[in-house]
Amino acid sequence: MAHVVIIGASTGGLPAAYDIQAKLGSKHEVTVINTSPTYSFIPSNPWIAVGWRNRSQVTFEIEPCLKNKGINFIAATVTSIEPNENRLTLNDNRSIDYDYLIIATGPKLAFDEVDGLGPDGHTQSICTLGHAEAAYEQWQDFIQSPGPIVVGAAQGASCFGPAYEFAMIMDTALRRKRIRDQVPITFVTSEPYIGHLGLGGVGDSKGLLESEMRQRHISFITNAKITKAEAGKMHIVEHNRKGEETEHHELPFAYSMILPAFKGVDAVNAVGEDLVNPRGFIKVDQYQRNPKWQNIYGVGVCIAIPPVETTPIPTGTPKTGYMIESMVTASVNNIWHDLNGSEPEAVATWNAFCLADMGDVGAAFIALPQIPPRNVTWARRGRWVHWAKVLFEKYFIRNMKKGTTEPLYQKYALRLMGIDRLKPGR
Ligand SMILES: Cc1cc2nc3c(=O)[nH]c(=O)nc-3n(C[C@H](O)[C@H](O)[C@H](O)COP(=O)(O)OP(=O)(O)OC[C@H]3O[C@@H](n4cnc5c(N)ncnc54)[C@H](O)[C@@H]3O)c2cc1C
Repeated sequence: MAHVVIIGASTGGLPAAYDIQAKLGSKHEVTVINTSPTYSFIPSNPWIAVGWRNRSQVTFEIEPCLKNKGINFIAATVTSIEPNENRLTLNDNRSIDYDYLIIATGPKLAFDEVDGLGPDGHTQSICTLGHAEAAYEQWQDFIQSPGPIVVGAAQGASCFGPAYEFAMIMDTALRRKRIRDQVPITFVTSEPYIGHLGLGGVGDSKGLLESEMRQRHISFITNAKITKAEAGKMHIVEHNRKGEETEHHELPFAYSMILPAFKGVDAVNAVGEDLVNPRGFIKVDQYQRNPKWQNIYGVGVCIAIPPVETTPIPTGTPKTGYMIESMVTASVNNIWHDLNGSEPEAVATWNAFCLADMGDVGAAFIALPQIPPRNVTWARRGRWVHWAKVLFEKYFIRNMKKGTTEPLYQKYALRLMGIDRLKPGR
């Protein structure tokens, strides 16, 4: 009997648990370890931060759902990984042995790389449910006493979509309250141009998002490096295409949300260079296995992917739900092969399918494959995208609770857009 242990129970870890259990059956044991006993749907966080959702709508308790499927659950934090011993240590000093390890730990948020950034400094975050709830508390004070907003993504960031979403969602929320005229909004980003998205653009994402910014009177600074956030003031250095400094900005703000750069979580990073790259992201081969320890698999934001291209200010490649789903499929199938003595063969597709909400409308992007040059690029804007995202939220949470093994992103993309060229996902 093999013991498969999964660290993390979010977009990557929870589907991996359901899939591996279904694939291997009851002869093998599956254990999930997650810091929190509660699952939360991360893409809802921008809505949490303006009060359009609350915790009870986007969370559920993980243990009963896993128990129903015969999967063990431990609510604890993994503090160290000993890959030569196939052993983990938890924050309560327990040791857990594994035969296969799937790491789905997401990012560590690198607020410390910019002076004054983040919830312990002077800006808000929507990266976790707790951060989004804290952002909403501040938002309630802000709308009583509105002023300028600075929103965006710091140097080294890879997850740009939620920054755009939150800028547009705030715009919508402020218009509904009839106080938008009191709030100048500036979008600040390390991307070389609006709509780059860490992907080198998707279709006409540049034109589409720039136009949206203009329609909504959101001014923007690209190739931006944030040097410091102070109470009520952001220090930004703008650069040209050669990476040379062109202008220094001091932007006053009454409210600010900046997405930070990501790095690997401590327990993973501490294993060292055989497991992780210099940012602490897990090195994986085409089969999602770590090259040195081939019984360790990485899925989701925690894996190392090179930037799509070099940009004047560093940007990373986003790892989105659709890609993560295909990494899960590949990992699960390859563990099955290994257990059955056959060679691994499943490879993640790494396609990007994103629904970006703007509060009232939205933009949908498809990039096949994610890294250019591509076979398919597709970007559309419309009210239907907003509603598609609302429906996807319900659909995903309901199915994760039920323990589905269906590839949800894949199925939804197909249903929504009638796309038949996507390769199987999860
Ligand atoms: C605000 C926001 C909105 C997003 N919206 C979208 C979207 O609309 N569409 C899309 O495709 N993508 C979106 N993404 C990108 C991506 O899909 C999500 O970040 C996704 O949640 C990543 O899943 P993950 O499982 O890799 O990591 P995470 O969701 O970060 O989950 C990691 C899990 O591991 C646990 N963990 C970490 N370290 C340990 C440890 N040492 N021991 C035990 N447990 C640990 C954490 O508690 C967490 O539960 C969004 C990202 C953000 C930040």
